[in-house]
Amino acid sequence: MSVLSSPHFHDEAKAFKYLESIVWAGGVVCPHCGVVDGRVYDLAGVRSKPSKKAPQGQLRHGLKKCGECRKQFTVKVGTVFEHARIPLHKMLKAVHLMVSSKKGISPHQLHRVLEITYKSAWFLLHRIREAMRSGDLAQPFGSEGGAVEVDETYLGFKKGRLHSPWLGPQECRSGTR
Ligand SMILES: [Zn+2]
Repeated sequence: MSVLSSPHFHDEAKAFKYLESIVWAGGVVCPHCGVVDGRVYDLAGVRSKPSKKAPQGQLRHGLKKCGECRKQFTVKVGTVFEHARIPLHKMLKAVHLMVSSKKGISPHQLHRVLEITYKSAWFLLHRIREAMRSGDLAQPFGSEGGAVEVDETYLGFKKGRLHSPWLGPQECRSGTR
């Protein structure tokens, strides 16, 4: 069985469970008050506000409520995945594809594989790459929740510019912020 057929790359609920098992390996941490392994409740079945695309509202996976500060959160808060509208299972797949191939992955490939728009794919790649560079992605993953295993993808700087095998220096410039 290919790694890519893992349930957390296909099922949104399982994607949340997967990320939780990594980020919260040392216990659930409330991102608002910082309590570790405090009273946290699962808020099952909560839906977002109805929209044109989802008249019934979308199911809010992984929603929790802190019993200490009474605020709501999901495991995405404080990670690179926060505020992104692309489903988590697709973003996890994007990270996997980025780090598991030697030459990385182009926005166009990602657009096709994940069935998201080219624009979304482009922004997602930049977001993940920026987080890897600054260590933001490794922070929530690596510190409490075990190691981040990155294979052979080369993402580095060459003469002060972000160097990527599939982007020219011009296009790369936006990645040097
Ligand atoms: Zn709290």
